[in-house]
Amino acid sequence: MRALYIGRFQPYHKGHHFVIKEIASQFDEIVIVIGSAQKSHELSDPFTAGERYIMISKSLRDDGVLNYYIVPVIDVNRNAVWVSHIESLIPPVDVVFTNNALVERLFKEEGYEVRKSPFFNRREYSGTEIRRRMLNGESWEDLVPKAVVEVVKEIDGVGRLKDLARTDILK
Ligand code: ATP
Ligand code: MG
Repeated sequence: MRALYIGRFQPYHKGHHFVIKEIASQFDEIVIVIGSAQKSHELSDPFTAGERYIMISKSLRDDGVLNYYIVPVIDVNRNAVWVSHIESLIPPVDVVFTNNALVERLFKEEGYEVRKSPFFNRREYSGTEIRRRMLNGESWEDLVPKAVVEVVKEIDGVGRLKDLARTDILK
């Protein structure tokens, strides 16, 4: 059996990591879709699909998880065809894991079994919270796998976010 997990992973954090490891242990294979793959260098989407790809693959490899495929998928901005867009890019899957109501609805309408994944420390293990901490110079490193800390350092991710927040308007 093959499972599907979808996220934006801006950045990949320990909440995603716990859920994905759990699914990977229960299924033969897990397909991880990196959504909004075309986006980067925006305050709510700072990292490229390639950067997110290595965050996920290095973190899973470090923990000995090998039964995954990562597929970046760009937005189509048409909910009615979104599932078939994803189907055209991924291996066939039997079960879809999501906590997002719209994603659940769209996959159910196409006949998929959709399951909810448990939340882990959602208050802190949250992309929004991690980006906020990066911007404010607070400590964020404990909220992501070690490999993600290394990738963010390699690409100067924190510096990028801070530059994105600057404006050319004098205050
Ligand atoms: P953002 O705040 O940028 O939306 P996010 O933390 O919600 O980031 P996403 O990439 O949007 O991360 O989420 C992908 C999937 O991971 C969603 O189904 C989301 O509900 C789930 N998820 C997010 N945080 C956790 C967590 N702490 N534990 C378990 N699942 C999580
Ligand atoms: Mg989210």
